[in-house]
This record gives sequence, C-alpha cells and structure tokens, in this order.
Amino acid sequence: MIGLLYIVRLEQPFAWPDNSADNRQRQCRSKIRTISEISTSVMSHSRKIIHIDMDAFFASVEQRDYPELRGQPVIVGGDPKGRGVVAACSYEARAFGVHSAMACARAQRLCPRAVFVKPRMEQYQLVSRKIMALFYQYTTLVEPLSVDEAFLDVTCNLAGEPSATRIAQVLRQTIYEATGLTASAGVSCNKFLAKIASGQNKPNGITVIPPDRALAFIGTLPVGKFYGVGGVTEKKMHSLGIRTGGDLLRFSQQQLMEAFGKTGLFFYDIARGRDQRPVEPSRIRKSIGTETTFAEDIVEFEQVLAIVSDLVGQVALLLEQKNTGGRTLSLKLRYSDFTTITRSCSSPKGYFSVTEMLAQLPRLLAATEAGRRKIRLLGVTVSNLFNEKERSPLRFRQLPLPFPPGKFSGDLHTSATASQPR
Ligand SMILES: [Mg+2]
Repeated sequence: MIGLLYIVRLEQPFAWPDNSADNRQRQCRSKIRTISEISTSVMSHSRKIIHIDMDAFFASVEQRDYPELRGQPVIVGGDPKGRGVVAACSYEARAFGVHSAMACARAQRLCPRAVFVKPRMEQYQLVSRKIMALFYQYTTLVEPLSVDEAFLDVTCNLAGEPSATRIAQVLRQTIYEATGLTASAGVSCNKFLAKIASGQNKPNGITVIPPDRALAFIGTLPVGKFYGVGGVTEKKMHSLGIRTGGDLLRFSQQQLMEAFGKTGLFFYDIARGRDQRPVEPSRIRKSIGTETTFAEDIVEFEQVLAIVSDLVGQVALLLEQKNTGGRTLSLKLRYSDFTTITRSCSSPKGYFSVTEMLAQLPRLLAATEAGRRKIRLLGVTVSNLFNEKERSPLRFRQLPLPFPPGKFSGDLHTSATASQPR
C-alpha cells in the first residue's frame, strides 16, 4: 500500500496546472485505476473540483428577459404588502442590504424603489437545464446543489483537459454564450474550498485555490465565511478566541467536539484542508425536493410558513414537469445548532398538487419547534415516487379533487438526526 501511495504522488504532482498534454489520456486511465485503490485522504489532495454558481440567478433571468429591469434593484419574491419573502435579488438591490429569505415588506423599506417580480420557476428550470447540460460535456460527476449551482469533479474529465481552471473558464464563457447570464466559479481540491472559492469573486469571477495554497487560504479565512457556520456558531467561536481557520488549529478534536458536537469534527478536518466528501452525481430519482439555507436564521412562524409554502409550490411544479407524484411528503428543518429533523406523512393516494401538500403543512409544522427555535434551513421533499405504470390512473383520479385542509388520513412519521453540513 505504501509503495502504491508513492507511485500516485509521483504521477500526480500537487502543483497545478498539470503538464504533458500528449499522454494525458493514458495518465487519466491510470488515475482512475489508482484512485479506486488508494485511500480517500490521498484522493482528496489530488482531486480537481469546480463549484459553479450563477450570479443572482432568478433576478438575472428577469433582467435578461425584461431589458427595462436592467440596472434596477430587482427583487424576485412575494408581495411586499403581504407575507412574501425574497427568493432572490439583483446586485443593485443587494447594495441596499436586501438578501434572500428576508421579508419582502422589510426589503421594500430598505429599498423603496425596488421592482418586485413574481418568480417564474418554469423559466428558471428551463435555463437551469440548459446550464447543467453544459457541465455534462466535461464530466458525469455533476452534483447539482440547487437550480443554479453545482459541483463538478473534473479530475478525469471527458475532454482530457488537464487544467481545471481552464475548464471553469471555458464553462463560464459557454454559459454566457448559451444563456446571456454570468456565473462565478471556484476551483480547488475539495468541495469545501471550491464552494468558498466561488463566492470570493462574485459576480462574474473565478477563484482558484491550488492544493499547496489551501492551508494558507483557510488559515486567514474568517470563520464566519466557513460553510456551515451561522451567526450563533460564529459568536461561540469568537468567545473561544477562534476568529480564523488558523485559530482552529490550536484545538484538539476532543475540544471541538465538546464545543460544537459532531460538527466540531468537521471543523477540525476543514482547518487542515481535509474534506473527503465525494461529488455525488444524481442517480435514479427517488425523490423530488428543494431546500433553502438562510443568510440569517429565522424564527417567526409566519415567515417559516411563507417560505415552506413557496417551497411546496416549487416542488409541485417539479412534480408536474416530471409528470409524477409521490406517496411521502417530508418537511426538513435545520435548527441554528445544526440539529436536522424531518417530519413526514404518507398517503397511498400520493401527493401531486400544491393543494394536497399545503393541506399537510399545519400538522407537519406542529410536530416541529418552528416559531420557537431559530431555523437556518427549510426543505420540502416528495419521495416514494409513483412509477410510470402507477401514475396515469392516479393522476386522472386526483385531478378534480383538492383535499380540504386537515381532513387527510395518513401516518405521521418523524425522525431526528444531528447532521453535518453538506
Ligand atoms: Mg447563485
């Protein structure tokens, strides 16, 4: 095993960009063979991961499609006179302190001349599919995180291109040519670094963190910028004298576990540039769902309800596009301390429409601490999907029958896990 590790190190110098274009196909094949054999710790140093994130995606699509919105502070979301929340906003609106998941009423107070636009999820999905298709020209290892961002593992890519930086540049250019929209990219050796990198030079920028600069980069990175560190955790870290990634190095695994639970282990590894999470391509669809993480934790029950209702609308649309429904509806909540819970209900008739799903929200939410505890993430998923044979008669039967709220029989399942940030 030790001998093998040496071979890999010699074959894959850590310094970027890669060399020798002539025998790269052969190298690539040998990498595949060895990568499957070597330990993941070595693999994490030799991987090439790109994180692509569209800039202010929903708002940019609106500005693209409606030229009169260009240069304006555009807020995509609900009604500022009602309980709507900001789904996305243009950079012009961000300059006023507006951000996503903020109540639209507050956004309007911050930026009175903002133009409010209703989301057009169908259009965003369409553009998203076009963008994702471009990624698959380079690799099948594509892990979409949402409609507008994805991880790509291009360690061994279909183009035989040795430089991940060049792939990221070409992709940003191709996305712009195909959609008229700008994207930012982060390039590094693991998901944590690639994701942070893509946010460093937004909008329309690229940041490369080569493996040999990873530790120096994390060392000076304020902990508030760490993926997975919210306001509460940041305060706690500050109280322990941890302000940067470098400060984390002074703490043992044990100490970080005691202070932050399981997430402490994640921080311990990240401070050392270690993140072995693989890029997980979406396989056969077993569920359809969407989730959103907030810039600031939310507490107000009304806001939670408004956001979950929005998510239900998005999921219903996705189900409609796939012409399916599912027997299980799940609500996911991540509290500010990273405890993640799911509350699910099942029905043999399945969930297809907004009405059917909204009817379940009161009792799903009643089984959580929404309104009493700070929440950093909300998600809605429909799983246990109907296959093609099952769904046509079901869909026909359920169409004219919206179910009255609270009158639905089905079992309520609950589960709780303390999970690490992904
Ligand atoms: Mg984005």
